[in-house]
Amino acid sequence: MKNSFFVKIFCGYLFVVIIILAITFPLTFKAIRHHHIDISTSNLKNLCNTLKLKISPLLENNQIKKLDTLIKVLGEQLNTRLTIINPEGIVLADSEKDPTLMESHKNRIEIIQAIQSGFGTSLRYSASVKEEMLYVAMPMENNGKIYGVIRTSLFSNEINTLLNNLKMNIIKIAIIIVVVLIIGAFLFSRSVSKPLNELAIASSKVAKGNFNTKVFINSGNEVKELADSFNYMTDQINTLFTQLSHQKEELNSIISSINEGLCVINKDGAISISNDSFRKTIQNDSVKGELYWNVIRKTRFDELMKKVRCEQNSIVDEIELNDRIFLCSATLCSNEDDIVVTLHDITKVRNLEKTKKDFVTNVSHELRTPLTAIKGFVETLQEANNNDENMHYLDIINRHTDRVIRIVNDLLLLSKLEGSPDSLELEKINLNNLMENILKIFDQRLKDKNLALKFNRDDKLPIIKADPFKLEQVFINLIDNAIKYTERGEIEISLSHNNETITIEVQDTGICIPKEHLTRIFERFYVVDSSRSRKLGGTGLGLAIVKHIVNLHNGNIDIKNIPGAGTNFIVTLPVSHS
Ligand code: ADP
Repeated sequence: MKNSFFVKIFCGYLFVVIIILAITFPLTFKAIRHHHIDISTSNLKNLCNTLKLKISPLLENNQIKKLDTLIKVLGEQLNTRLTIINPEGIVLADSEKDPTLMESHKNRIEIIQAIQSGFGTSLRYSASVKEEMLYVAMPMENNGKIYGVIRTSLFSNEINTLLNNLKMNIIKIAIIIVVVLIIGAFLFSRSVSKPLNELAIASSKVAKGNFNTKVFINSGNEVKELADSFNYMTDQINTLFTQLSHQKEELNSIISSINEGLCVINKDGAISISNDSFRKTIQNDSVKGELYWNVIRKTRFDELMKKVRCEQNSIVDEIELNDRIFLCSATLCSNEDDIVVTLHDITKVRNLEKTKKDFVTNVSHELRTPLTAIKGFVETLQEANNNDENMHYLDIINRHTDRVIRIVNDLLLLSKLEGSPDSLELEKINLNNLMENILKIFDQRLKDKNLALKFNRDDKLPIIKADPFKLEQVFINLIDNAIKYTERGEIEISLSHNNETITIEVQDTGICIPKEHLTRIFERFYVVDSSRSRKLGGTGLGLAIVKHIVNLHNGNIDIKNIPGAGTNFIVTLPVSHS
């Protein structure tokens, strides 16, 4: 590249110089020769005019011999060939030859021209002296009558010698010019190619990662501007790379300092980044570049990765790795190639939850027998006692014992549901019939509270597979609440379905659950108004049990609050198509 660029400029330059010289030199020689011939012709013409005066008396007096002698003397003195010809073309005198031996010159071009137009010239080969010569002829006249022609001539080799000398000088000068031009071309080509070569070398260094490369060019032309831009560019790249490496270092230290396991999985499934925590979790120190399925041999994890790619979303799921439970969060990066995975160890939380549940279950279990005993003795005392004051206290003890028994029972039910999620005893059930049987339980209470009941059956409701006792529990709780928290109006129960789901709505015209409580209403022991709930015999566990049972049936429960008009609980259960 370096050579070719230099050679191209240099050869191009040289070619132009040679072409110019090849055209100008022959033209210059031709012009100089013409010019020289013109000058010689003019000199010979002047000579003719001067000699005319000297030789005309001899010619007029016909002194031919004397004329020839004079001509020979003058020819030698002037170093010019002189010839005198009479109008008939006979040579009368000649400075070089014996005129008597010379042929007639009547047909010589210059003689014809001189006689016809008063001046004749020609450059031609001389038959007499066997050389190329320049001839100039002029007539000699007396009263308009031509009595002779004087011809002067010059050997063209004299002109040629002169021209050759000139040519040699010009060639010498030309050689000097060519040498100077070649040196100039060399320097010029080098001055153009050198900075470009420097730029090319610097660019390749930058391409190899050396961003400190600089190009220093002293010329003030565009190449200098290019070099300045190049230097600016390398400065910028350098700054950018420094910033990037700082950011990378920062990121690396952040990644390695976080307690959660973190790894980045690229589009081919290889782990590109990981932190200490992650490597510790999977008990593998060299995971970089490894395919994730070779490192984490868990079907659940594999499914999670596929799901993230498919749904292009963040997904959080629990996975078990090396006897520990992790909350695994997988997020597809904005470049849509990498997945960032974090593993948060929740083993302690889960263990704690289990201990808590076990504790609650055990306590509830232990409380059941003494509570039953207390209730039994209270009832015995109530029967045996006639004292009104004692009766009042016994009533209070009885009411609170009932409440604690209800709480204990609900807690035991909840822990049973949580402990064995597969405990559903599925049967084919018709929800219309199930609901009618349940509603019978509430006849008396509805009458007591003077509440209307509206039941909207759906006669085309498909038969579903569900646990009838648990579903009863759900609807008993919901209808019980509806009656409990409604003072006037009606309770409306509606069944409906579509291809996929059956919907059961329990709507009342009672007090509304304020909006801010809606998100927490299904939590254990969460009550809106604890004194009212306690007064009505509530435990704060009813809706938690409801939600649990509905979830076990792969269903969903939702609340719609109609301010001033009541509450609507909507249960949706999936229709099994088998
Ligand atoms: P509780 O045994 O206290 O009724 P739940 O878990 O069944 O406990 O209900 C939790 C709380 O939700 C109740 O204390 C009550 O404030 C509110 N709630 C439940 N159902 C209704 C309803 N139909 N209308 C108004 N409030 C309700």
